[in-house]
Amino acid sequence: MSRHASAPLYEVYALKYAHHERRASENFIGGDPHDGPMPLDYFVWLVRGAGRELVVDTGFSRAMAAKRGREHLRCPAESLRSLGADAAAIRDVVITHLHYDHVGNFELFPAATFHLQEREMGYATGRYMGSECFRGAFEVEDVAGMVRRVYQGRVRFHDGDSELFPGISLHLIGGHTMGLQVVRVATRRGWLVLASDASHFYANMEEERPFPIVWSVAEMLDGYRRMRALAESPAHIIPGHDPLVLERHPAPSAALQGVVARLD
Ligand SMILES: [Zn+2]
Repeated sequence: MSRHASAPLYEVYALKYAHHERRASENFIGGDPHDGPMPLDYFVWLVRGAGRELVVDTGFSRAMAAKRGREHLRCPAESLRSLGADAAAIRDVVITHLHYDHVGNFELFPAATFHLQEREMGYATGRYMGSECFRGAFEVEDVAGMVRRVYQGRVRFHDGDSELFPGISLHLIGGHTMGLQVVRVATRRGWLVLASDASHFYANMEEERPFPIVWSVAEMLDGYRRMRALAESPAHIIPGHDPLVLERHPAPSAALQGVVARLD
């Protein structure tokens, strides 16, 4: 994969804002023969460089954490502030998909345009939401909130692959939801892919054992291959919920140990 020598390089951060204890058997289709604790971390991501700041996903609020029985650690805006980024001033937010843990918190980003796959909005507002197995991880008020932003002219729809800025592109994966997209970023260590829930854990993609919340298992498996083709190496693919992300990548400062990882 070539990169224009003049294309900007970006810093990329994973910011943990919530946590949830669960068993490994809940994280793979067909369970896990070596069942044990396998918790989820919840992240938003910050991409910064060339005078731009881009936030990927917006996370859930404390109230939503209480409703869903998740442990809310801090407001995503607070974590952004710890990196010197002001959520209220962010102009571009990529929403990887419309599940409750990736969208919402709209009021924290009053200046943002939201980047969403057209297919995701169709999925979240269409006939499949009549079935609990598909709508379970959606919150109707989050979806309605996105519809309101459409009417405010604040949503930019993407259909498939799309270059957002030089060195930052969106790629439709599907699988987990119909319109899930991943973000590829040019960094000093090569192409990095923010997988979000195209792979919740390293193990899902590395062992090709899909996560059980899924629109299309076939698309999810194709997505693992697609991401390997997009990224500099498998280690450049950042899963959406794996606590190992904070172990495999350094904190930008001692104070942010266990909270923020620098991925580039
Ligand atoms: Zn998720």
